[in-house]
This record gives sequence, structure tokens and C-alpha cells, in this order.
Amino acid sequence: MAAARKLSTFHLPPLSTIGEIIKLFKMQASKQLSQNFLLDLRLADKIVKKARNLRNAYVYEVGPRLEAITRSILNASVAELLVVEKNPQFIPGLQTLSDAAPGKLRIVHGDVSTFKIEKAFPGSLKRQWEDDPPTIHIIGNLPFSVSTPLIIKWLKDGLFAYGRTQMTLAFQKEVAERLTASKGSIQHSQLSIMAQYLCSIQNVFTIPGQAFIPKPEVDVGVDFTPLMESMIEQPFKLVEKLAQNTWLGMLFPEAQCLESTGKLLQLAEADPTLWPCQLSLHFKSLCGVYWKMCDRNPHLFAYNF
Ligand code: SAM
Repeated sequence: MAAARKLSTFHLPPLSTIGEIIKLFKMQASKQLSQNFLLDLRLADKIVKKARNLRNAYVYEVGPRLEAITRSILNASVAELLVVEKNPQFIPGLQTLSDAAPGKLRIVHGDVSTFKIEKAFPGSLKRQWEDDPPTIHIIGNLPFSVSTPLIIKWLKDGLFAYGRTQMTLAFQKEVAERLTASKGSIQHSQLSIMAQYLCSIQNVFTIPGQAFIPKPEVDVGVDFTPLMESMIEQPFKLVEKLAQNTWLGMLFPEAQCLESTGKLLQLAEADPTLWPCQLSLHFKSLCGVYWKMCDRNPHLFAYNF
């Protein structure tokens, strides 16, 4: 990253000190908003380095707040950094940063949950799925309140509009554990299924609690690399429906529930005495069998418990 710094043609203003932050945001108030500030630039550099070579890449950072990660991204000689930040308190600081790096930082004051990622970058960056990944990377230390629905939304809608877009994201430990949970484990959940069937997911770094002010639990960085071929061939909607209904009986109307659930398990060669979380071992075949059942009975997919 030091080399990347030398290549930058701009000088960013220094990061705020702890004293300035306490004064600026009145710590009492920020505690209520559960705001933790990453103030270690070397650690931010390490996080950004995990996102591989960002030179000339288009980067999207979610929730930059006090810009430690933002600065490291800018220093990596990116083509453009787009940031989406909801809290108006952080916009003036970002504006100062943008002034110091002309043409490099695009600031959107808005909500990441509604921001349309599929329209965020020039159309010329779009790649076919089988091509090399586009020169786009998503980075961020995601806010806990939105992380799970946001990942599901991105996977369903928008993330892949430019091809196999890669992401490097930090989460609270429990979310990272669910994302990387192995099949059959107690943490294997809807989030694990939805993320793992489309991406290879790896833990790439840990951010110790003491890196933040005030100190939270550790955060864990996770790398998402979209798979050339998804693990399950059925459409996203069907995979999502099965992942949401861990009690398989909920997939069928009451009158046929017992019989159809039995048939689903039998045809998928899944032991009916398994716990719902253990059924994830058979998730792929359950999707295949349920897909055929829906094909034979077109009303079945629309049935919603
Ligand atoms: N990247 C910073 C860091 O590492 O210190 C801050 C990460 S902090 C966990 C989450 C950031 O996301 C905050 O800046 C917060 O204001 C912002 N945020 C929270 N909800 C958001 C939303 N729905 N849309 C956009 N930004 C949001």
C-alpha cells in the first residue's frame, strides 16, 4: 500500500483524532447510535489489500463514516470510488476528502438498501458471466442492522449486473460465522445457503475490537467470489423459498402436507429424522425434487404458508 500511496497524485487531509471525534460527535450520542469508529489507517490498509489489486478499479464502499477505509481505497489508485452513506453527519468530511482527490470520490447521501447498484457504474464495465470479473469491487464494514437483508438483496438483484463482481466485506462475527458456516452445522442458515450457492466465501481478516472507538466485538472480513457455475441450478426464487422454509411441511397446503413432505424427502434421499438444520446436507437435491413437483403442479410454487 505504501507504493500505492506514492503513486497517488493527491494529498488527503489527516484522519480525525479520537479527541476530535469525541468533540465532534459527542460520544454519548454516538453510543446511542452504536457507532464504532475505525481509526487505524494501517489496519484499514490491510483490509483494503485483501480486496486484491484495486488499481484503476471502480470501487463501491458502503457506509464510509469517518473514512479510514475510504482513504486506503483512494490511496490504492482506483479509477473511482463511490460511497453511499446514510448519516448526514459524515457527509461534510467526505466532501473535504473529495475536494482533496478531485474526480476520484463520488458521494451519495442515501440508503444502501434502496441504492441501485445495477446502475452505479458505466455500462462499458459490464462483462459476460464467463468473462473475467469486471473491474468493480465492493468493500465495506457493513452496519449490523442491514447486513443480512442487504446481502440477500444484492445476490438476488443487482450485484451481478456487471458480471462476477467481487466483494470484500466486514461483518459482526456472528454474521460472518453464518456466511461461512458449513452444511449441517447449527449456524448454517438461510444466509449461508443463499450466499454459498452463488459464491465461494472465505474469511480473510479479523478486525480486533480495540481497533474501534468505542470497543465492540471483533468484526470479521469475508471475501465473496462469485462461482462460475452456481451450486444449485434452480432459479434464485426457488432456492430462496426452500431456504426460508426450513420446516419443509410449510411448502405444501395442509391437505397434502404430510404426503408431499414425505415424498420430497424420499425422492431427495434425505433421512426424515434429520433436524431442519441438518437437511442443508441435502439442500441441492431437495431443490431439484421440489422444482419438479412445482413443474407438475403450477399452483404449488405460489403457495405461501
Ligand atoms: N467504514 C466505517 C468504519 O469501518 O469505521 C464505518 C462502518 S459502520 C459499521 C457502518 C456505516 O454505515 C456508518 O457510517 C453508518 O452511518 C452507515 N450506515 C448505516 N446504515 C446505512 C444505510 N442503510 N445506508 C448507508 N449507510 C448506512
